[in-house]
Amino acid sequence: MKLWERNVRKVVPYTPGEQPQDGQMIKLNTNENPYPPAPGVEKALRGLSAEQMRLYPDPKAKILVEALAEYYGLKEEQVFVGVGSDDVLAMCFLTFFNSEKPILFPDITYSFYDVWAELFRIPYRRPLLNDAFQIQAEDYFGENGGIIFPNPNAPTGEVLSLEKIEEILKHNRDVVVIVDEAYVDFGAKSALPLTEKYDNLLVVQTFSKSRSMAGMRIGFAMGNPDLIRCLNEVKYSFNSYTMDRTALISGAEAIRDREYFEKTTAKIVETREWAKEQLRRLGFTFGDSQANFLFITHRDCEASGLYEALRKAHIYVRYFSSPRIDNYLRVTIGTREEMETLIAFLGNYLSEKKKG
Ligand SMILES: *Cc1c(COP(=O)(O)O)cnc(C)c1O
Repeated sequence: MKLWERNVRKVVPYTPGEQPQDGQMIKLNTNENPYPPAPGVEKALRGLSAEQMRLYPDPKAKILVEALAEYYGLKEEQVFVGVGSDDVLAMCFLTFFNSEKPILFPDITYSFYDVWAELFRIPYRRPLLNDAFQIQAEDYFGENGGIIFPNPNAPTGEVLSLEKIEEILKHNRDVVVIVDEAYVDFGAKSALPLTEKYDNLLVVQTFSKSRSMAGMRIGFAMGNPDLIRCLNEVKYSFNSYTMDRTALISGAEAIRDREYFEKTTAKIVETREWAKEQLRRLGFTFGDSQANFLFITHRDCEASGLYEALRKAHIYVRYFSSPRIDNYLRVTIGTREEMETLIAFLGNYLSEKKKG
């Protein structure tokens, strides 16, 4: 071992979903949106010139913060923006989870949480989801250093009701509670209204899923101005210019088009409910996902084998080889046509399997 290696911060990094370069693939593995961003985004991008790149972008990201505040009926001091919600969440961990007591998040959840906790040396504990993969609010009532969970949860799609979230908040007035709402626009209720009553609640959302802009990297947090101020202080101690000019302009443009957003998210919800029926007919079981993905399992076939077979057919889904979920596949909701191809493949696969 070289001497300098003793001083290295050792981490086991997060493994992002694959981004294959496969021209004929159906990509249902990283919960991207199958529809393009709002039409105004392309127009806004065409209005940009290379000359504008000479200057630093606005460190306050004002045009984006303003657009978000207006859309959600908030003051600008209640909005924080970052390079995807991964950046926003990492800043949240660094800012708010600074106690000796363990922070809490579910055993089955977004697999970046434990990576950030390890990176920032935050102690953590992971209460178990129940057998139906649901969060048990009571598990979050004891002493802790902060709480984070996605709602709907990932990769299960299960929703925790606002009543249960409020119970968690009532038992946790002295720590920051973060609800990661990456998938909330596909049918769940946002906890945003609870931020008026609970100054320790932070709601985090992203443009990557419901707004079709995963490639642009835009995320945001909403909550009490004191929380946002603390976040900004840490952000300005780390990197002042997180949002580049293209992200600021295209994000502001996307948020203004409410009609397009509502139309495309409704289409995904409709396709999801159709896919649930079809998968049920084929004998798959799954919870009542309110996200843009389904977390499915089948009594008669192993998830890992099915995952490989799908790959060979150029259909990419996500498989996690972790305990409790290693016989499940997470399938993103694509277009109706993509889902029809998937369902047809699954029908054939299962009947071939039956024949032996
Ligand atoms: C996708 C996702 C994120 C991160 O999304 P960004 O692309 O970084 O905005 C955060 N949390 C959960 C639960 C997600 O699924």
